[in-house]
Amino acid sequence: MRGSGSLLVDNIGELVTNASGDGTGGPLGIHRDAALLVEDGQVAWVGPARGAPAADRRIDAGGAAVIPGFVDSHAHLVFAGDRAAEFAARMAGQPYTGGGIRTTVGATRAAPDSELRATVRRLRDEALRQGTTTIEIKSGYGLTVADEARSLRIAAEFSEDTTFLGAHVVPAEYADRPDDYVGMVCGPMLAAAAPYARWIDVFCERGAFDVDHARAILACGQAAGLGVRVHANQLGPGPGVQLGVELGAASVDHCTHLSDADVDALAATGTGDGAASTVATLLPGAEFSTRSPYPDARRLLDAGVTVALATDCNPGSSYTSSMPFCIALAVREMRMTPAEAVWAATAGGARALRRDDVGVLRPGARADLIVLDAPTHLHLAYRPGVPLIRQVLHNGVPQ
Ligand SMILES: [Zn+2]
Repeated sequence: MRGSGSLLVDNIGELVTNASGDGTGGPLGIHRDAALLVEDGQVAWVGPARGAPAADRRIDAGGAAVIPGFVDSHAHLVFAGDRAAEFAARMAGQPYTGGGIRTTVGATRAAPDSELRATVRRLRDEALRQGTTTIEIKSGYGLTVADEARSLRIAAEFSEDTTFLGAHVVPAEYADRPDDYVGMVCGPMLAAAAPYARWIDVFCERGAFDVDHARAILACGQAAGLGVRVHANQLGPGPGVQLGVELGAASVDHCTHLSDADVDALAATGTGDGAASTVATLLPGAEFSTRSPYPDARRLLDAGVTVALATDCNPGSSYTSSMPFCIALAVREMRMTPAEAVWAATAGGARALRRDDVGVLRPGARADLIVLDAPTHLHLAYRPGVPLIRQVLHNGVPQ
Protein backbone atom coordinates (compact mmCIF):
# COMPACT_ATOMS: atom_id res chain seq x y z
CA MET A 1 0.00 0.00 0.00
CA ARG A 2 1.17 3.46 -0.83
CA GLY A 3 0.60 6.36 1.54
CA SER A 4 -2.11 8.88 0.87
CA GLY A 5 -1.23 11.85 -1.29
CA SER A 6 0.89 9.83 -3.70
CA LEU A 7 1.25 11.22 -7.22
CA LEU A 8 2.22 9.26 -10.32
CA VAL A 9 3.80 11.09 -13.26
CA ASP A 10 2.94 8.65 -16.01
CA ASN A 11 3.44 8.17 -19.74
CA ILE A 12 6.87 9.85 -19.80
CA GLY A 13 8.47 9.42 -23.23
CA GLU A 14 11.97 10.25 -22.03
CA LEU A 15 12.86 10.49 -18.34
CA VAL A 16 16.21 12.13 -17.51
CA THR A 17 17.20 10.96 -14.02
CA ASN A 18 20.95 11.82 -13.84
CA ALA A 19 21.18 8.53 -11.94
CA SER A 20 23.21 6.27 -14.19
CA GLY A 21 23.02 3.29 -11.81
CA ASP A 22 24.03 0.27 -13.87
CA GLY A 23 25.45 2.56 -16.53
CA THR A 24 22.60 2.17 -19.00
CA GLY A 25 20.96 5.35 -20.20
CA GLY A 26 24.26 7.29 -20.39
CA PRO A 27 25.31 10.06 -17.98
CA LEU A 28 21.77 11.43 -18.03
CA GLY A 29 20.42 8.07 -16.84
CA ILE A 30 17.64 8.13 -19.44
CA HIS A 31 14.62 5.82 -19.11
CA ARG A 32 12.16 5.55 -22.00
CA ASP A 33 8.40 5.00 -21.62
CA ALA A 34 8.75 5.58 -17.90
CA ALA A 35 6.80 6.65 -14.85
CA LEU A 36 7.79 8.25 -11.57
CA LEU A 37 6.01 8.06 -8.21
CA VAL A 38 6.07 10.93 -5.72
CA GLU A 39 5.33 10.48 -2.01
CA ASP A 40 5.87 12.94 0.83
CA GLY A 41 7.63 15.38 -1.49
CA GLN A 42 10.22 12.83 -2.56
CA VAL A 43 10.73 10.49 -5.47
CA ALA A 44 9.50 7.10 -4.24
CA TRP A 45 9.85 4.97 -7.36
CA VAL A 46 11.12 5.20 -10.96
CA GLY A 47 10.51 2.55 -13.61
CA PRO A 48 8.69 1.45 -16.75
CA ALA A 49 5.24 2.99 -17.24
CA ARG A 50 3.62 -0.41 -17.69
CA GLY A 51 4.79 -1.54 -14.23
CA ALA A 52 3.83 1.64 -12.41
CA PRO A 53 2.20 1.35 -8.99
CA ALA A 54 -1.21 2.80 -8.23
CA ALA A 55 -1.35 6.31 -6.80
CA ASP A 56 -3.93 8.76 -5.49
CA ARG A 57 -3.38 11.20 -8.32
CA ARG A 58 -1.85 11.03 -11.77
CA ILE A 59 -0.23 13.44 -14.19
CA ASP A 60 -0.19 12.21 -17.79
CA ALA A 61 3.00 13.50 -19.43
CA GLY A 62 1.57 12.52 -22.82
CA GLY A 63 4.84 11.07 -24.07
CA ALA A 64 6.82 14.23 -23.29
CA ALA A 65 10.26 14.43 -21.69
CA VAL A 66 10.70 14.88 -17.94
CA ILE A 67 13.95 16.18 -16.43
CA PRO A 68 15.08 17.15 -12.92
CA GLY A 69 14.31 20.73 -11.88
CA PHE A 70 17.16 23.12 -12.67
CA VAL A 71 19.67 23.89 -9.91
CA ASP A 72 20.81 27.50 -10.35
CA SER A 73 23.88 27.62 -8.11
CA HIS A 74 24.79 31.29 -8.69
CA ALA A 75 22.34 34.19 -8.43
CA HIS A 76 22.33 37.69 -6.93
CA LEU A 77 18.67 38.37 -6.20
CA VAL A 78 18.79 40.80 -3.26
CA PHE A 79 19.00 44.25 -4.80
CA ALA A 80 17.01 47.33 -5.73
CA GLY A 81 16.78 49.27 -8.99
CA ASP A 82 17.89 48.16 -12.42
CA ARG A 83 20.68 49.08 -14.82
CA ALA A 84 18.97 48.94 -18.19
CA ALA A 85 20.60 52.23 -19.23
CA GLU A 86 24.06 50.83 -18.42
CA PHE A 87 23.25 47.77 -20.55
CA ALA A 88 22.20 49.99 -23.44
CA ALA A 89 25.41 52.03 -23.13
CA ARG A 90 27.46 48.82 -23.12
CA MET A 91 25.71 47.57 -26.23
CA ALA A 92 26.61 50.94 -27.77
CA GLY A 93 30.28 50.22 -27.12
CA GLN A 94 31.21 50.99 -23.51
CA PRO A 95 33.24 48.22 -21.78
CA TYR A 96 32.08 46.34 -18.66
CA THR A 97 34.29 46.98 -15.62
CA GLY A 98 32.17 45.89 -12.69
CA GLY A 99 32.03 49.50 -11.46
CA GLY A 100 28.27 49.62 -11.90
CA ILE A 101 27.90 47.36 -8.85
CA ARG A 102 28.20 50.52 -6.73
CA THR A 103 25.11 51.95 -8.44
CA THR A 104 23.10 48.98 -7.21
CA VAL A 105 24.66 49.24 -3.75
CA GLY A 106 23.30 52.77 -3.38
CA ALA A 107 19.79 51.74 -4.45
CA THR A 108 19.83 48.63 -2.23
CA ARG A 109 20.89 50.52 0.90
CA ALA A 110 18.06 53.00 0.35
CA ALA A 111 15.37 50.34 -0.14
CA PRO A 112 13.13 49.10 2.67
CA ASP A 113 13.08 45.39 3.54
CA SER A 114 9.68 45.04 1.89
CA GLU A 115 11.04 46.17 -1.47
CA LEU A 116 14.04 43.81 -1.32
CA ARG A 117 11.81 40.91 -0.28
CA ALA A 118 9.39 41.62 -3.13
CA THR A 119 12.24 41.61 -5.65
CA VAL A 120 13.62 38.29 -4.40
CA ARG A 121 10.13 36.76 -4.49
CA ARG A 122 9.47 38.07 -8.01
CA LEU A 123 12.74 36.70 -9.37
CA ARG A 124 12.45 33.40 -7.49
CA ASP A 125 8.96 32.93 -8.94
CA GLU A 126 10.15 33.94 -12.41
CA ALA A 127 12.92 31.32 -12.17
CA LEU A 128 10.48 28.68 -10.91
CA ARG A 129 8.21 29.22 -13.91
CA GLN A 130 11.26 28.47 -16.07
CA GLY A 131 11.98 25.23 -14.24
CA THR A 132 14.42 26.31 -11.53
CA THR A 133 13.55 24.49 -8.30
CA THR A 134 16.77 25.20 -6.39
CA ILE A 135 18.38 28.64 -6.44
CA GLU A 136 21.39 29.93 -4.53
CA ILE A 137 21.06 33.56 -3.42
CA LYS A 138 23.98 35.88 -2.61
CA SER A 139 24.19 39.10 -0.66
CA GLY A 140 26.68 41.69 -1.87
CA TYR A 141 24.74 44.87 -2.61
CA GLY A 142 24.58 46.07 0.99
CA LEU A 143 28.26 46.22 1.96
CA THR A 144 27.53 47.51 5.47
CA VAL A 145 27.12 45.26 8.51
CA ALA A 146 23.40 45.95 8.73
CA ASP A 147 22.70 45.79 4.99
CA GLU A 148 24.58 42.54 4.43
CA ALA A 149 22.86 40.92 7.43
CA ARG A 150 19.39 41.96 6.26
CA SER A 151 20.13 40.89 2.68
CA LEU A 152 20.96 37.39 3.93
CA ARG A 153 18.06 37.32 6.37
CA ILE A 154 15.71 38.01 3.44
CA ALA A 155 17.54 35.58 1.13
CA ALA A 156 17.19 32.82 3.76
CA GLU A 157 13.40 33.19 3.56
CA PHE A 158 13.64 31.87 -0.02
CA SER A 159 16.64 29.53 -0.19
CA GLU A 160 18.63 27.05 1.89
CA ASP A 161 21.71 28.03 -0.11
CA THR A 162 22.52 31.59 0.88
CA THR A 163 25.94 33.12 0.32
CA PHE A 164 27.66 35.97 2.13
CA LEU A 165 29.28 38.18 -0.52
CA GLY A 166 30.31 41.17 1.58
CA ALA A 167 33.48 41.10 -0.54
CA HIS A 168 31.69 41.91 -3.81
CA VAL A 169 33.47 45.25 -4.30
CA VAL A 170 35.10 47.70 -1.89
CA PRO A 171 32.36 50.29 -1.27
CA ALA A 172 33.08 53.91 -2.16
CA GLU A 173 33.48 55.02 1.46
CA TYR A 174 36.40 52.56 1.87
CA ALA A 175 37.96 53.18 -1.55
CA ASP A 176 41.25 54.49 -0.14
CA ARG A 177 41.51 52.01 2.74
CA PRO A 178 40.65 48.52 1.45
CA ASP A 179 42.53 46.85 4.35
CA ASP A 180 40.05 48.40 6.75
CA TYR A 181 37.14 47.10 4.69
CA VAL A 182 38.57 43.57 4.66
CA GLY A 183 38.97 43.79 8.44
CA MET A 184 35.31 44.73 8.78
CA VAL A 185 34.17 41.95 6.44
CA CYS A 186 36.09 39.39 8.52
CA GLY A 187 34.94 40.89 11.82
CA PRO A 188 31.53 42.42 12.55
CA MET A 189 30.06 41.87 9.07
CA LEU A 190 30.81 38.14 9.05
CA ALA A 191 29.50 37.80 12.60
CA ALA A 192 26.21 39.45 11.62
CA ALA A 193 25.89 37.56 8.31
CA ALA A 194 26.97 34.03 9.26
CA PRO A 195 23.75 33.02 11.09
CA TYR A 196 21.86 33.43 7.78
CA ALA A 197 24.50 32.05 5.39
CA ARG A 198 25.68 28.62 4.27
CA TRP A 199 28.47 29.90 2.02
CA ILE A 200 31.03 32.68 1.70
CA ASP A 201 32.14 34.11 -1.65
CA VAL A 202 34.64 36.75 -2.84
CA PHE A 203 34.90 38.61 -6.15
CA CYS A 204 38.61 37.93 -6.72
CA GLU A 205 39.39 40.16 -9.68
CA ARG A 206 41.43 43.20 -10.64
CA GLY A 207 39.40 46.18 -9.39
CA ALA A 208 37.71 44.10 -6.67
CA PHE A 209 39.75 41.95 -4.20
CA ASP A 210 43.33 40.76 -4.71
CA VAL A 211 44.42 37.25 -3.80
CA ASP A 212 45.70 38.11 -0.31
CA HIS A 213 42.48 39.88 0.66
CA ALA A 214 40.40 37.12 -0.90
CA ARG A 215 42.31 34.39 0.94
CA ALA A 216 41.95 36.23 4.26
CA ILE A 217 38.19 36.70 3.84
CA LEU A 218 37.51 33.13 2.71
CA ALA A 219 39.60 31.73 5.57
CA CYS A 220 37.59 33.77 8.09
CA GLY A 221 34.40 32.45 6.58
CA GLN A 222 35.63 28.87 6.77
CA ALA A 223 36.56 29.38 10.41
CA ALA A 224 32.97 30.54 10.99
CA GLY A 225 31.67 27.31 9.44
CA LEU A 226 30.81 28.58 5.95
CA GLY A 227 31.63 26.71 2.74
CA VAL A 228 33.75 28.45 0.10
CA ARG A 229 32.86 29.66 -3.40
CA VAL A 230 34.81 32.19 -5.49
CA HIS A 231 34.04 34.59 -8.35
CA ALA A 232 37.19 33.84 -10.33
CA ASN A 233 38.88 34.59 -13.66
CA GLN A 234 35.91 36.44 -15.17
CA LEU A 235 37.44 39.60 -16.60
CA GLY A 236 40.98 38.33 -17.13
CA PRO A 237 43.54 35.73 -16.04
CA GLY A 238 44.13 35.69 -12.29
CA PRO A 239 44.69 33.71 -9.12
CA GLY A 240 41.04 33.11 -8.19
CA VAL A 241 40.66 29.56 -9.51
CA GLN A 242 43.83 28.31 -7.85
CA LEU A 243 42.88 30.03 -4.60
CA GLY A 244 39.53 28.26 -4.69
CA VAL A 245 41.20 24.90 -5.23
CA GLU A 246 43.70 25.62 -2.45
CA LEU A 247 40.85 26.30 -0.01
CA GLY A 248 38.70 23.35 -1.11
CA ALA A 249 35.99 25.54 -2.64
CA ALA A 250 32.81 23.77 -3.69
CA SER A 251 32.84 25.88 -6.85
CA VAL A 252 34.84 28.49 -8.72
CA ASP A 253 32.52 30.61 -10.81
CA HIS A 254 32.93 32.29 -14.23
CA CYS A 255 36.25 30.60 -15.29
CA THR A 256 36.30 32.62 -18.49
CA HIS A 257 40.08 33.18 -18.62
CA LEU A 258 41.94 30.03 -17.58
CA SER A 259 45.57 28.95 -17.89
CA ASP A 260 46.51 25.31 -18.43
CA ALA A 261 47.61 25.24 -14.78
CA ASP A 262 44.14 26.42 -13.70
CA VAL A 263 42.49 23.64 -15.69
CA ASP A 264 44.93 21.06 -14.31
CA ALA A 265 44.33 22.25 -10.74
CA LEU A 266 40.56 21.86 -11.17
CA ALA A 267 40.91 18.44 -12.79
CA ALA A 268 43.10 17.24 -9.93
CA THR A 269 40.26 17.83 -7.45
CA GLY A 270 38.37 14.94 -9.11
CA THR A 271 34.91 14.57 -10.53
CA GLY A 272 33.24 12.12 -8.17
CA ASP A 273 30.56 12.74 -5.59
CA GLY A 274 33.37 13.26 -3.10
CA ALA A 275 33.19 16.40 -1.01
CA ALA A 276 36.66 17.49 -2.11
CA SER A 277 36.02 18.21 -5.79
CA THR A 278 35.81 21.81 -7.00
CA VAL A 279 33.23 22.46 -9.71
CA ALA A 280 33.79 24.99 -12.50
CA THR A 281 30.52 26.95 -12.71
CA LEU A 282 30.10 28.71 -16.04
CA LEU A 283 27.80 31.73 -16.35
CA PRO A 284 27.26 32.42 -20.05
CA GLY A 285 24.55 35.02 -19.34
CA ALA A 286 27.37 37.30 -18.16
CA GLU A 287 29.35 36.95 -21.38
CA PHE A 288 26.16 37.45 -23.38
CA SER A 289 25.22 40.61 -21.48
CA THR A 290 28.71 42.09 -21.52
CA ARG A 291 29.41 41.01 -25.11
CA SER A 292 32.52 39.14 -23.99
CA PRO A 293 34.18 35.91 -25.17
CA TYR A 294 32.57 32.82 -23.63
CA PRO A 295 34.41 30.35 -21.38
CA ASP A 296 35.54 27.15 -23.10
CA ALA A 297 33.52 24.39 -21.49
CA ARG A 298 34.91 21.76 -23.88
CA ARG A 299 38.44 22.33 -22.61
CA LEU A 300 37.29 21.81 -19.02
CA LEU A 301 35.17 18.76 -19.81
CA ASP A 302 37.93 17.13 -21.84
CA ALA A 303 40.30 17.64 -18.91
CA GLY A 304 37.85 15.85 -16.60
CA VAL A 305 36.58 18.90 -14.69
CA THR A 306 33.00 18.87 -13.33
CA VAL A 307 31.10 21.73 -15.01
CA ALA A 308 27.94 23.46 -13.78
CA LEU A 309 25.83 26.07 -15.56
CA ALA A 310 24.12 28.91 -13.67
CA THR A 311 22.48 32.23 -14.52
CA ASP A 312 24.48 34.76 -12.42
CA CYS A 313 21.12 36.58 -12.32
CA ASN A 314 21.93 40.18 -11.29
CA PRO A 315 20.86 43.63 -12.48
CA GLY A 316 24.23 44.58 -13.99
CA SER A 317 26.01 41.90 -15.95
CA SER A 318 23.41 39.15 -16.45
CA TYR A 319 19.79 40.03 -15.83
CA THR A 320 18.35 36.66 -16.80
CA SER A 321 16.81 34.01 -14.57
CA SER A 322 16.51 31.52 -17.44
CA MET A 323 18.42 28.25 -17.21
CA PRO A 324 17.11 27.16 -20.65
CA PHE A 325 18.71 30.29 -22.12
CA CYS A 326 22.03 29.36 -20.45
CA ILE A 327 21.77 25.80 -21.81
CA ALA A 328 21.25 27.11 -25.33
CA LEU A 329 24.24 29.48 -25.02
CA ALA A 330 26.43 26.70 -23.61
CA VAL A 331 25.67 24.42 -26.54
CA ARG A 332 25.96 27.08 -29.23
CA GLU A 333 28.90 29.07 -27.86
CA MET A 334 30.82 26.91 -25.37
CA ARG A 335 31.12 23.60 -27.23
CA MET A 336 28.96 21.59 -24.83
CA THR A 337 26.71 18.83 -26.14
CA PRO A 338 22.99 19.22 -25.29
CA ALA A 339 23.29 16.31 -22.85
CA GLU A 340 26.31 17.87 -21.11
CA ALA A 341 24.52 21.19 -20.80
CA VAL A 342 21.36 19.67 -19.31
CA TRP A 343 23.47 17.66 -16.83
CA ALA A 344 25.47 20.80 -15.90
CA ALA A 345 22.24 22.78 -15.29
CA THR A 346 20.83 20.09 -12.98
CA ALA A 347 23.29 17.60 -11.46
CA GLY A 348 26.22 19.95 -12.02
CA GLY A 349 24.52 22.72 -10.06
CA ALA A 350 23.80 20.27 -7.27
CA ARG A 351 27.49 19.29 -7.13
CA ALA A 352 28.42 22.97 -7.01
CA LEU A 353 26.20 23.28 -3.92
CA ARG A 354 27.43 19.91 -2.55
CA ARG A 355 23.91 18.55 -2.47
CA ASP A 356 22.77 15.06 -3.41
CA ASP A 357 19.02 15.55 -2.81
CA VAL A 358 18.42 17.74 -5.89
CA GLY A 359 19.44 17.65 -9.56
CA VAL A 360 18.66 13.93 -9.67
CA LEU A 361 15.50 11.82 -9.87
CA ARG A 362 16.05 8.65 -7.86
CA PRO A 363 14.19 7.26 -4.84
CA GLY A 364 14.80 9.49 -1.83
CA ALA A 365 15.62 12.62 -3.84
CA ARG A 366 13.44 15.71 -3.65
CA ALA A 367 10.59 15.47 -6.15
CA ASP A 368 11.66 18.52 -8.17
CA LEU A 369 11.01 17.97 -11.85
CA ILE A 370 9.98 19.56 -15.11
CA VAL A 371 7.54 18.18 -17.68
CA LEU A 372 8.83 19.64 -20.94
CA ASP A 373 6.69 20.68 -23.86
CA ALA A 374 9.00 18.53 -25.96
CA PRO A 375 9.73 14.86 -26.62
CA THR A 376 13.39 15.08 -25.56
CA HIS A 377 15.82 17.18 -23.50
CA LEU A 378 17.58 18.01 -26.80
CA HIS A 379 14.89 20.59 -27.51
CA LEU A 380 16.16 22.88 -24.71
CA ALA A 381 19.11 23.83 -26.92
CA TYR A 382 17.51 23.00 -30.27
CA ARG A 383 14.57 25.38 -29.73
CA PRO A 384 16.14 28.40 -27.98
CA GLY A 385 13.86 31.10 -26.62
CA VAL A 386 10.77 28.89 -26.80
CA PRO A 387 8.71 28.32 -23.62
CA LEU A 388 9.22 24.56 -23.22
CA ILE A 389 8.45 24.34 -19.48
CA ARG A 390 4.97 22.78 -19.45
CA GLN A 391 4.74 21.93 -15.75
CA VAL A 392 7.02 22.16 -12.71
CA LEU A 393 6.81 20.04 -9.57
CA HIS A 394 8.62 21.41 -6.51
CA ASN A 395 8.80 19.19 -3.43
CA GLY A 396 6.29 17.00 -5.29
CA VAL A 397 3.77 19.84 -5.55
CA PRO A 398 2.61 21.02 -8.99
CA GLN A 399 3.37 24.76 -9.25
ZN1 LIG B 1 28.08 36.55 -9.70
